[in-house]
Amino acid sequence: MRIRLLASTTGPSPTYQFAMSYLINDRVAIDAGTIGFAALTVQRAIQHVFLSHVHLDHIASLPIFLDNIYQPGPEAVSLYAGQATWEALQQHIFNDVVWPDFIRLSAAESPFFHFQPLLPEVAVSAAGLSIIPVPLDHVVSTLGFIIDDGQAAVAIVSDTSPTHRMWEVARTIPHLKAVFLESSFPSSLQWLADKTNHLSATTFASEVAKSGLSVPFYAMHIKPAFQEIIVGELQRHGLDILHILEPDRCYDF
Ligand SMILES: [Zn+2]
Ligand SMILES: [Zn+2]
Repeated sequence: MRIRLLASTTGPSPTYQFAMSYLINDRVAIDAGTIGFAALTVQRAIQHVFLSHVHLDHIASLPIFLDNIYQPGPEAVSLYAGQATWEALQQHIFNDVVWPDFIRLSAAESPFFHFQPLLPEVAVSAAGLSIIPVPLDHVVSTLGFIIDDGQAAVAIVSDTSPTHRMWEVARTIPHLKAVFLESSFPSSLQWLADKTNHLSATTFASEVAKSGLSVPFYAMHIKPAFQEIIVGELQRHGLDILHILEPDRCYDF
């Protein structure tokens, strides 16, 4: 399984991450913060898009992406989301104000996408992968994902505050190879992490310990304004499983 966090800036070293999209084997996208700004060939290869939640850094480029890849005909990308995310997209994005109502248009003519509802802990098959959505603890309804190709599995855990069920499910998967876990804030902003249901460097470390998992943990969803501070704090915790996820780098599991 090959996973790449799409860069959200152009230029030689896209270290900072403004919005989130992961590509799995080029054909599955987790979140749509940046996919609509990738090369058109990259966008056209995507067949399935899974949304964790409706916050803008995870859906910002979704309307652009759907517009970019649209072709008249019955074929269309599959879009997967939980019920709350779907209703929020209908109400706030595809509402004929912010963007055309692709939901109504898809029902009438050639679809812009095929919607597939996600239910907690009900695995979905897509492009040779099994994808298990697991509810996280965020300010809006949010799903983490365990992505499994039969040989290797990876958990994407974002956005969330300290959580529980994801670790229980992850512990049942013997071939789990890695966890991608958010670390949004420095520890000095723990109050803000708590109010917005995110992790700080401190609660990242306590989640690693709580998880009981001994696989590599890749820190991601690091706020650019505090990136150097957060990375320094994470490193000072001395976790031997710690990695910092690099945008635009291919990770093979
Ligand atoms: Zn969020
Ligand atoms: Zn986010």
